[in-house]
Amino acid sequence: MFDRPRNTALACLLFAAVAGYFVIGHYLYKVPIGLDASAFLLGEPLQKLTLLVFPRLQHAASGGILLGLSLLAIGAVGFFAMRRSVRARAAKVDAGRREFLTGAGSGAGIALGSLVIAGGAGAARGFLGVGLGHDGWRGVAANIGSDQGIVKTNPEWKQDWKGARVKGHRRLGRTGWNVSDIVLGTGGIRGEDGEQVARLAIERGVNYFDTSPDYAASGSEQAMGRAIRGVRDKLFIATKFCTPMGHLPPGTPVAKYMAAVEASLGRLGTDYVDLCHVHSCDEVERLLDENVHEAFDRLKQQGKVRFLGFSTHTPNLVQVANAGISSGRFDVMMLAYHHGMWAPLPELIGRARSEHDMGVVAMKTLKGAKHHGLVGFREEADSYSQAALKWVLSNPNVSCAVISFVKLQHVDEYLFASGQQPTADDVAILEKYDSLIRGTHCAPHCGVCLDSCPEQLPIHDVLRHRMYFEDYGWEKEGMRLYSMLEKNASVCASCSAPCLGSCPLEIRIQERMIGAHELLTPS
Ligand code: SF4
Ligand code: SF4
Repeated sequence: MFDRPRNTALACLLFAAVAGYFVIGHYLYKVPIGLDASAFLLGEPLQKLTLLVFPRLQHAASGGILLGLSLLAIGAVGFFAMRRSVRARAAKVDAGRREFLTGAGSGAGIALGSLVIAGGAGAARGFLGVGLGHDGWRGVAANIGSDQGIVKTNPEWKQDWKGARVKGHRRLGRTGWNVSDIVLGTGGIRGEDGEQVARLAIERGVNYFDTSPDYAASGSEQAMGRAIRGVRDKLFIATKFCTPMGHLPPGTPVAKYMAAVEASLGRLGTDYVDLCHVHSCDEVERLLDENVHEAFDRLKQQGKVRFLGFSTHTPNLVQVANAGISSGRFDVMMLAYHHGMWAPLPELIGRARSEHDMGVVAMKTLKGAKHHGLVGFREEADSYSQAALKWVLSNPNVSCAVISFVKLQHVDEYLFASGQQPTADDVAILEKYDSLIRGTHCAPHCGVCLDSCPEQLPIHDVLRHRMYFEDYGWEKEGMRLYSMLEKNASVCASCSAPCLGSCPLEIRIQERMIGAHELLTPS
């Protein structure tokens, strides 16, 4: 049958359609999310090989490479099968016609056709979700920036706020820096738009920004590097001991820790950063890893980093923060702190200040940032962020509050709270917010529920990634982080839910976990 070129051509195109649908479609769905190398078949060895050729590569290339190799393989099957068939056929005809048939074009046309068909079938599956029972990437894209079925309160860009500037400064502990009370959080800063937002915030008096290599897979550091040209010396810059792929585990070699910071310096276009954090630290072992401390000491000696810090917002926050304070090694502590926070935190913050004169940076200041999506909160939503910032800054032991700036409007909105004390109206807004989010917001990822889960799921992390997707608008980041968890919430739907009732905040854990899995899983 396959000695007839026509039959071979049809078989090749059919193969391309099937392989394209299942293989190319799979990759076309997953690659644009920017998943980590480990999410792909042979992803990690492929990534290592790629780094040998492109040592400066910052992103996971494995998915893209597998996509390209699969396409090439489909094209090659078409090419060789067709050429073989044509040659077999040509052996039966006269010499002149044989030469024509076996020429260079004998398989090229089918190879090209296979590529087009494989790409089309892949796009139909990956981008349109044909045959999958969902909308493919189109569905993900529709969720991005959508309201998830909740009526959003479009914040009014109020005339009164326009032109707001930093009005309050505080001493950042023993660093001696007098920093703006509002700090530019750059988790949502990327590209030219982000650069513009950062420039405006700096122009209006923000003199401290907090970035990280793993924000937008280094997009934040790159944008900030462009935004600070010419004004670097006026700024206090904080980054993290991380790579664009995420945290470095305890025991990472000293040289690798140092290389990660040097890569940050390159992206930021500066010779030094003021502060480097052990980032999002949930275990004392990583906090006190002697290699990270040696790396810091050497970087400090070389003038590349001035101060050491840590950030934590995990179930072990109190344990990690206490260990960090007791060590006396850290100049700055950045921790989740917002209204309605659980009791030990003010005391912990006071200890950091009184015992070691540490700078204290409050993060996660908007308690989930659900205000624009809450039904029944339309009137208050515009002023919520200012009330929340004022509440955080009402603690005199807090040096400053970091908040994610994403839009130009945020510069006016957030800086309007600078230097102000909370009023009775602000407190009423915060109380209303708390009552509306009761049962849905995992704050502050306290971990009380963890022992109740027989599957040992990282409930706090799953719910945090859901928050990134749903409330922060960092949809791809939420999906990427969720895909990197060792255990996910796929088992929750068939579980008898012993976690029920274990959350002191009355969060309906099973329901929230099932919803998180649906929201954060690509297929
Ligand atoms: S429902 Fe999910 S989170 Fe709750 S106990 Fe079961 S597996 Fe754990
Ligand atoms: S679900 Fe409740 S108990 Fe569990 S980490 Fe979140 S706030 Fe704490």
